[in-house]
Amino acid sequence: MSTLTDERTTELIEQFQQHFGGAPTYVSRGAGRVNLIGEHTDYNDGFVLPVALKRDVRFVLRPRADRQVRLFSVEFGESGAFDLDNLRYIPEQLWINYIQGMAQSLEQEGIRLTGIDAVFSGNVPRASGLSSSAALEIASAHAFLAAAGQTGVLSGPRIAQLAQRAENHFVGVNCGIMDQFISELGRENHALLIDCRSLEYTLVPMPEDAALVIGNTRASRSLASSAYNERRAECEQGVALLQPVLPGIRALRDVTSAQLEAHRALLPENVYLRCRHVVSENERVLQTVAALQAGDLVRVGQLMNASHDSLRDDYLVSSPALDAMVGAMRSVEGCYGARLTGAGFGGCAVALVKPGYEQAMADAIFEHYPKATNIWPEVYMTKAADGAGVEQLLLA
Ligand code: ADP
Ligand code: MG
Repeated sequence: MSTLTDERTTELIEQFQQHFGGAPTYVSRGAGRVNLIGEHTDYNDGFVLPVALKRDVRFVLRPRADRQVRLFSVEFGESGAFDLDNLRYIPEQLWINYIQGMAQSLEQEGIRLTGIDAVFSGNVPRASGLSSSAALEIASAHAFLAAAGQTGVLSGPRIAQLAQRAENHFVGVNCGIMDQFISELGRENHALLIDCRSLEYTLVPMPEDAALVIGNTRASRSLASSAYNERRAECEQGVALLQPVLPGIRALRDVTSAQLEAHRALLPENVYLRCRHVVSENERVLQTVAALQAGDLVRVGQLMNASHDSLRDDYLVSSPALDAMVGAMRSVEGCYGARLTGAGFGGCAVALVKPGYEQAMADAIFEHYPKATNIWPEVYMTKAADGAGVEQLLLA
């Protein structure tokens, strides 16, 4: 287990002293994440394979004797406050709603919370598809649980579900369970296979010679939410049209490639192509797990490439910026494979590379991507990290 006592925590402790006086007693973290493979499969009851990032959202906090919550957001340079007995959505301060939503979810679970003073900050890029929102929810969950003396009372999967509920119901974002699950349950040097139907999960060791490079396109994701709803509807239409001939199916998760091909004539072309992506992507996730277990990174890279091509050609959620990013990544020696990650249209791409080639890949991205797009990207080099954490701070 890695420790949370590092430079970032030291800085947060100093900020806490400035804002609240005295010292915080706990530090908590929720991790950002990147999905290796399994895109647009979660809402089809399928499989995903994310890893947690070293990048996180972190709280330092001190419990209060009352039910007031006082917060300072370092990135926004803003204070915020709420009363645990009077939670209400605050439209002018989006970030505080994730924290209020988490408090509400925990109390609905029967955990009596106490107020806190807290300073928090994150280095997960916001709104870029690396799930800063789940990191914020999970970090705040552990802050509240520690303050209430309830650390360890809830299981990791339960905390993830409560965080998803906070985002769905309090914030009003219709996200799946992947982000919260990996933010909570990620493990250093492991990917996490999640079955989005049963919520069963398996840690899959990442081979030693696997490094990850993430390229942030910094391109607008404005199309993403309308397209997301359209794609979900097309998937549902596919299931409805296939059910008469495949009576056992509940979701595209239950359909094989062979079945889809056999009944292709029943589906309009757009619906067929969307289904083909989802069905083949689920198969690719399971094939990726097998390839990781066999240490066959060449195969993993091929599956990642096939995933991107399917998202681009069948699911229509790539973009010129994402294709340019993936093209720059694939041009580098040492790249096993690269694909868009997240819902698409903007956000990030992820590449699997041989260790030692990360810098060459970053150089290639900075050389080729801005020429193609006129946008200056960001590049993060990473490995699979631990998910959530919470520690008591020892007073100096
Ligand atoms: P992402 O893909 O990063 O999850 P979202 O739009 O789902 O994008 O969530 C981003 C929102 O989460 C931000 O608008 C902000 O309200 C909140 N957030 C994330 N990180 C932080 C942070 N470090 N400080 C304050 N708010 C944050
Ligand atoms: Mg999010």
